Amino acid sequence: MDRRNEPPDPRETGNPYDATDATERRDDEGTFREEAAAESIGAGSPEDVPHETFGTRGSVQQTVGIGRSTETGSYVFPAFDDHHPPEKNLIDDCVHCGFCLPTCPTYVLFGEEMDSPRGRIYLMNKGLDEEPMDDTMVRHWDLCLGCMACVTACPSGVQYDKLIEATRAQVERRYERAPEDKAFREMIFQLFPYPDRLRLATAPLRLYQRFGVGDMLRRAGIMDRLPKRMKAMEALMPMMTRQQEVPEITSSIGEKRRRVGFIKGCVQRVFFSEVNAATVRVLSAEGCEVVAPKSQGCCGALSVHAGREEEFQRFARKLIDVFEDAEVDEIIINAAGCGSTLKEYGYLLRDDPEYAERASVFTAKVRDVSEFIQELGPVAERHPLPISAAYHDACHLAHAQGVRQQPRATLKQIPGMDVREIKEAEICCGSAGIYNMVEPEPATELGDRKARNVLNTGARMIVTSNPGCMLQIQASLKRMGRSMPMAHPVEVLDASIRGEPVETLLDRAL
Ligand code: SF4
Ligand code: SF4
Repeated sequence: MDRRNEPPDPRETGNPYDATDATERRDDEGTFREEAAAESIGAGSPEDVPHETFGTRGSVQQTVGIGRSTETGSYVFPAFDDHHPPEKNLIDDCVHCGFCLPTCPTYVLFGEEMDSPRGRIYLMNKGLDEEPMDDTMVRHWDLCLGCMACVTACPSGVQYDKLIEATRAQVERRYERAPEDKAFREMIFQLFPYPDRLRLATAPLRLYQRFGVGDMLRRAGIMDRLPKRMKAMEALMPMMTRQQEVPEITSSIGEKRRRVGFIKGCVQRVFFSEVNAATVRVLSAEGCEVVAPKSQGCCGALSVHAGREEEFQRFARKLIDVFEDAEVDEIIINAAGCGSTLKEYGYLLRDDPEYAERASVFTAKVRDVSEFIQELGPVAERHPLPISAAYHDACHLAHAQGVRQQPRATLKQIPGMDVREIKEAEICCGSAGIYNMVEPEPATELGDRKARNVLNTGARMIVTSNPGCMLQIQASLKRMGRSMPMAHPVEVLDASIRGEPVETLLDRAL
């Protein structure tokens, strides 16, 4: 009997990668499986592939966290349903060249093929071939930071961003997470996209910080007994400062050049309200009337990056409604993670008959603040700020939006600024939306690696365009017993335009 025509049943074999195609099913002939696996990752033969790429019987080797007791152990057949599975034609764009591997943070950490973009695309293809969605497969996708460094590195233009977004939505719909994992994620999504709830929840944090409760718990060894995810959340909390509200309408200083909308973000408005205040001052100084509608909610970035499609769509539709009413020329955002999602609204709402076109109009207006400042051209006088600053590229600005030169140019236009580059700039700091809370171990390794590279620049401060990156790098510096002032590029520009002394920036603490 020719077993090659039999459908595989991983529940019987116990190996989810068993019998994944006709060639691989010839287990008894040994080398076929490894040849197929080698071919799938672009190697001529199994000998070209590092030994650790294959586990026993040619299956992929397990990676960090796989097999942990919290996984469900159940399979979903087939992996994907018909609602936007990862597109076959996008998968086929991958020619397995491997150029993306050195820039992929999880591949850099684990050296595991299935934790590389190429490996994850391979698993998506397996899913399309009606393989089951199982713990191992989901684990490799979960470990992806969504940093999009692979999109920048790929010479074939593989749209990994679209592939992983589609895959994550499938995982959220079809995969049953362990109850504690589900509960933790739910807690995050009931809190972070809602600034009022977040503000309320962080109110006790002021007392906690004022009385040094965290340090006491650390000294008593209690912190070490907390679950890793809770410990990571505690380490990431910034120093709570006085909230600075931005007005609903701010007039331009001097002649009005534009009427722009301003998106306040959720984490940004609660933890970094001073960045928002600085953004509005800078825009006004550059001749913009700034409209920051009070009724604006979350943009849905956290939700879409976690595959929570319906939740994202609700947020997006509401934001479109709000900014249509505002009648603005451009829509400005200062948080990289939100900006990349806002620029995808047209694509993400493409199925919605009522909103598809309106979402595209919205998207066409969206600009990162540094991108907009450079487009507009400076009119406000820049006063000197004699300071060295390491500029950290937020992945969702550099890789996802291609905005690299504009924040650097914004800083370099300030007399006296010495902008320094960070080694391994393309590698993510491990923040990645909710990643550093749900995957604290790899996130910590990446954060520490980034912090070391930042310290090696010898700069006096760090400048970056994403709140998550600020929290992540600062937590790593703290762990190392170091600290460094941090600022958003627009805060530096604001200090320069206002003629503030450099100490204003250096005295900042997160
Ligand atoms: S998005 Fe980042 S972590 Fe994910 S595969 Fe691409 S490079 Fe790797
Ligand atoms: S660089 Fe692009 S084509 Fe090459 S393996 Fe990576 S995703 Fe595939």
